[in-house]
Amino acid sequence: MIFKGFGTKCVHAGEGNDPHRAHTMPIYRTSTFTFENAEHAVRSFSGSPGYIYIRSPPYTPTHSAFIEKICSLESGQAGLTFSSGLAAETALALSQLRKGDHLLCGNVIYGGTYALFSSILPKFGVEVSFIDMTNSKVLRSELRNNTKMVFLESPMNPTMAICDIQEICTIAKEAGAVSAVDNTFASPYFQRPLELGADFVVESCTKYIGGHSDLLGGVVVGSNSLIKSMRRTTIETGGAMGPDEAWLCLRGLKTLHLRMERHAFNAQKLAEFLEGHSEVKRVIYPGLESHPQHDSAKRQMAGYSGMLAFELKGGIEECMKLMNAVQLCTLAVSLGSTDTLIEHPATMTHAVMPSEFRQKVGISDSLLRISVGIEDVEDIISDLDQALEKV
Ligand code: PLP
Repeated sequence: MIFKGFGTKCVHAGEGNDPHRAHTMPIYRTSTFTFENAEHAVRSFSGSPGYIYIRSPPYTPTHSAFIEKICSLESGQAGLTFSSGLAAETALALSQLRKGDHLLCGNVIYGGTYALFSSILPKFGVEVSFIDMTNSKVLRSELRNNTKMVFLESPMNPTMAICDIQEICTIAKEAGAVSAVDNTFASPYFQRPLELGADFVVESCTKYIGGHSDLLGGVVVGSNSLIKSMRRTTIETGGAMGPDEAWLCLRGLKTLHLRMERHAFNAQKLAEFLEGHSEVKRVIYPGLESHPQHDSAKRQMAGYSGMLAFELKGGIEECMKLMNAVQLCTLAVSLGSTDTLIEHPATMTHAVMPSEFRQKVGISDSLLRISVGIEDVEDIISDLDQALEKV
């Protein structure tokens, strides 16, 4: 059956395939699958469809159900699951790049992704440049003959800057490079990079896909042929997702549409409150008209998601005071959970970036990041209000 509405896909896509007619897909907690006979084993290893071993796609029926659902939501044909978002990015980069290739990456990205691209890939002879992806002129001028991949986040972690995904993917394609978009901050509910021309979409399932801060996982979705081009690297680098995580992702996605609506509603209200507060220098949320790329966000996103950043008028000391004063909000990294999380990128998620680089790309010592949860927004606002009084 073809499901049209996004919410219907969240609930139904990938479901109902259990051979024993289980209503909810069971967790296939097995590391290996038996063969009917030796000939069946040989056929399986020669590429005939079926399950072999939990590290090899399609992994288990639980993974298949999750992959079918996420492909339906991201408008992709095929997908691969991983033990984490970073394992997904590792397999993606190692499968698409080789010695002598050049990777162009946005200069505002998750600290772990920055570390992977800046310190691991160059060890294997891959050249990497970090550039301002909000400006397509910069992208054009930084392309080299050996540029093989363009990688970006939008909204970007943690500054919430937005880039024009369609324009960047078109430029990459013209240059013969594949484009990959980390969609973790938006989730497929608010943004579908494959529909905007991206070759690959990457998600840290640890965040909105799981949605409850109780799993670690990653996924890459794309066309059949591009996902096939990642298959061997995926198997051989071994960063497979476990069956319990696949099941939690499958369950988490059933409520993605409902959760994302509430995350975004709360984030908009909180952003508006913070924008009017005397201790706050500036609020960066794509849903605010004051956001520098508000128009791009409006064009390519169906809503503005639940992540926001703001700068205090004070510096690092005031940020510490605020984080120590919150009572409802939780002081923790990660994002996309039911509850509101607050963190300080310069000393936490992005501490791995050299300070000068961080300052240059706008991750100042006064910047705080909030993953707005799905609580009652009045409670989130009053918690931040009382904490700001103590700054
Ligand atoms: N991409 C983004 C935007 C992230 O924020 C993170 C982690 O915070 C990752 C990727 C890495 O995901 P994981 O922690 O699942 O490896």
